[in-house]
Amino acid sequence: MGSTNQGEELAKIAEAVRTCPKCPLSKTALRGVPGEGNPNADVMFIGEGPGKEEDKQGRPFCGAAGKFLEEMLESIGLTRDEVYIGNIVKHRPPGNRDPEAEEIEACWPYLQAQIEIIDPKVIVILGRHSLARLMPGLGTISQLHGRAFRRDGRYYMTLYHPAVALYAGSMRQVLMEDFGKLKLLLKKIRTR
Ligand code: URA
Repeated sequence: MGSTNQGEELAKIAEAVRTCPKCPLSKTALRGVPGEGNPNADVMFIGEGPGKEEDKQGRPFCGAAGKFLEEMLESIGLTRDEVYIGNIVKHRPPGNRDPEAEEIEACWPYLQAQIEIIDPKVIVILGRHSLARLMPGLGTISQLHGRAFRRDGRYYMTLYHPAVALYAGSMRQVLMEDFGKLKLLLKKIRTR
């Protein structure tokens, strides 16, 4: 698929997300947050769901966790325009509660379609909700963070959610180190 077509296909999904009636989250959220970035990205980051700022702006990871994500991207020579950033659920759960299983399932076809269209070489799993949906039963985020798995012709790399570093300063270093591992993985696949 050419990148113009990919962009158009993603735009169709974004429109469907914005008007999605499939779960109760759209009733309490201000806006849908479909995801954004390079339609042809070789790396796709998948977080949990929009927070307060994302809900206001309709953009993923544009609040405090997003600022740290951008910093980590920069530390490995990437910008957010080069990658694709999305979420497991695309409307904000009220009060930032965990998304319910039915909400995750209702939203899943959007993410599945985005993954198919972008066809990234690496999917970066950010946090436990993303891990549970993308790699069910594999283990916990504390067991698996910083590790890469190969499945269905691509890599999945598991990282703590960037927001953990906002509450536990010591996690900053862990995340930075895990981003270093992502850099090595990207170097390996890009020089193939
Ligand atoms: N946390 C997430 O998981 N996703 C966002 O878009 C923002 C914060």
